[in-house]
Amino acid sequence: MRYNRTYISILIILACILPVNAQTGFDADRAFEDLLNQCDLGTREPNSSGAKASIKLFEDVLRPLADSFHLQNFKLDDPYSDAQLDLTNIIARFQPEKTERIILCAHWDTRPRAEYDDHSPDTPIIGANDGASGVAVLLEIARQISDAPTNPGIDIILFDGEDYGEPGDLQHYLLGSRYYVDHPYLPLAQRVVLLDMVGDAELTIKVDPVSYKSAPRMVEEIWALAAEIGYDQFQLVAGASMYDDHVPFIEKGIQAIDIIDFEYPGPDHSYWHTHEDTPDKCSPESLEAVGNTVLSWLYRQ
Ligand SMILES: [Zn+2]
Repeated sequence: MRYNRTYISILIILACILPVNAQTGFDADRAFEDLLNQCDLGTREPNSSGAKASIKLFEDVLRPLADSFHLQNFKLDDPYSDAQLDLTNIIARFQPEKTERIILCAHWDTRPRAEYDDHSPDTPIIGANDGASGVAVLLEIARQISDAPTNPGIDIILFDGEDYGEPGDLQHYLLGSRYYVDHPYLPLAQRVVLLDMVGDAELTIKVDPVSYKSAPRMVEEIWALAAEIGYDQFQLVAGASMYDDHVPFIEKGIQAIDIIDFEYPGPDHSYWHTHEDTPDKCSPESLEAVGNTVLSWLYRQ
């Protein structure tokens, strides 16, 4: 009896000190495989062979997991040549009948240029962090919510053409998210969580002021939950203001936040938009911090 009681109290203590992440099942190693698999396909800018192969990869993973799966294809005239751009948003819907919904999104395209690279600024980047990392977290979250559904319906959307614009040409960024907000799948979500550049091995996620203005409560909940789990990568201090795929949603009056570590690897963001943005600069631990936090937050909704 005494033994049993001790055993029970040990169990209770263990249950109390086990981090929240132990309950979500988020598999960081499998997410990191998803990052590597994307990079193995080569650069993934619009009209590239890597882009075509990526769409197949995403369909292979997501179609069996989702309740409905859609390739949202659209064309745009290339602002920088006579070509036409073939663009595709990847949409995986979970419980599409539910009216209370959350969009989780990331951009899957990679930049067709590396303007801050000292050696080869005109060639496309592999985009391990800026592209593959957010998608990797979302593919693993898709596996989790397919097994254990959340209360709200979830739309996982991988946007094309986020990083297409030439420096300063803002209207040719965010191509996929801009198209989506004008052609949404209904019912439309009330809240949006964007993941971008979440793979940096030296992860520090500050608060994007644009996000905080749009949805202060969502920011406070998610950052507080990260602290509760023990992820000190999330810091509740203001970072740089982001012009990213959350902006078209905010412009439509929808609450949207961007979880992003723009300091890659540090405040001078010296790997950003260079050929240094490769998988060896990223880590499974960083994907886990973001994936577990977002997934834990979803299960509290
Ligand atoms: Zn970028």
